[in-house]
Amino acid sequence: MKILVINTGSSSIKYQLFDMDTQAPLSMGFAEKIGETEGFLRHIKFFSNKDKKEHDIHAPIENHQKGLDLILGLLTDHEWGVIQDKSEITAVGHRVVHGGEQFHTPTLINDAVIDAIKKNIPLAPLHNPPNLLGIEVALTHLPEAKQVAVFDTAFHHGLPAKAFMYALPYELYEKEKVRRYGFHGTSHGYVADHAAQMLEKPISSLKIITIHLGNGASMAAVDGGICVDTSMGMTPLEGLIMGTRTGDVDPALPFFLANHLKMTLSQIDTLLNKQSGLKGVCGSNDMREVIEKYKAGDQKAQLAFDMYAYRIKKYIGAYYAILGGLDALVFTAGIGENSSEVRSSCLSGLNHLGIVLDEAKNNERSRQARAIQTSESSVSILVIPTNEELKIARETLMVLEPV
Ligand code: ADP
Repeated sequence: MKILVINTGSSSIKYQLFDMDTQAPLSMGFAEKIGETEGFLRHIKFFSNKDKKEHDIHAPIENHQKGLDLILGLLTDHEWGVIQDKSEITAVGHRVVHGGEQFHTPTLINDAVIDAIKKNIPLAPLHNPPNLLGIEVALTHLPEAKQVAVFDTAFHHGLPAKAFMYALPYELYEKEKVRRYGFHGTSHGYVADHAAQMLEKPISSLKIITIHLGNGASMAAVDGGICVDTSMGMTPLEGLIMGTRTGDVDPALPFFLANHLKMTLSQIDTLLNKQSGLKGVCGSNDMREVIEKYKAGDQKAQLAFDMYAYRIKKYIGAYYAILGGLDALVFTAGIGENSSEVRSSCLSGLNHLGIVLDEAKNNERSRQARAIQTSESSVSILVIPTNEELKIARETLMVLEPV
């Protein structure tokens, strides 16, 4: 069975086609700058695990309809294709950022589900509209395929009220659903499952902290497979310091910015979401550049790096406390998988908690899932490459063929 996974942004479509018999990707790629004057599409065809070929197209992509047209054309192309006909695609798994309170499992899409995702737009005004557009476009291009929504918030469904409530008037929760939801759920769920496999123990017996450090960054405390707390909140702005987002700040900060600096709401929104984080402190939101700069003596880059790692360390302490013990810490996503510097800095001085990093193992470069703790560490420290697309494909399959 072939499952196509789609992740639609406001000007992009990322895709991956899986053969679910082997769970291997046949093809993947992305279209970006959709609707702009210069569009770009990269299509990758896999011949085997290691052997692949890339095909780039530089041309305007008018809209998402045209984008998916182009993608399906490539998937069935005589040279670049991996299937004969689009009818071979049994199902499409869609990443949907915000499932609100009603969606906590992958869901077969019908009109009622589309309406419910629309109702959650106020909670995710930047993400849910393009996700919906992706669903509509896929419905028109692949009307025979089953369409499944996999929600980024779903894994955090198990948060207890004491973790998900804000200390605001209760009516705001009752009437407007103002609460913490958490994001990156597909990734946290994937790496937590993978960690249990690596430790050869049932996930129901494990206490795990998962640390997803990409452009966006978040952590989750996972107790027996259930996420009991996570660092992002009602929106992805809360929690860790990110590439361009502040993470936690004093909620009174916007009053100062508005009253004292006369900033508008939209300027404050842009400041906190797009001009802050690593970029705000040292001018670069790319961790590779931040590290290069601090190694060359740039003090602001050093500060940005130290702040970034310090915030992670604080959350490790908090989650260790609420879990009441710890079996494994898992690093994932671009920075978590690749930056030995970040891992080393945020785990320094945690020996008294049984968290002891093996620096030599930490410095080894590898794309494989691996353990990097010393033999005396009671906590396993794992680096696990995330694979949100595979997780979406697996969850889509589970909707079609429940076990
Ligand atoms: P996204 O959230 O967009 O999926 P990624 O998971 O790809 O992002 O992570 C992007 C981040 O990973 C960037 O900050 C980038 O600098 C960082 N990164 C990638 N490779 C390395 C590396 N070798 N060392 C440090 N950071 C890295």
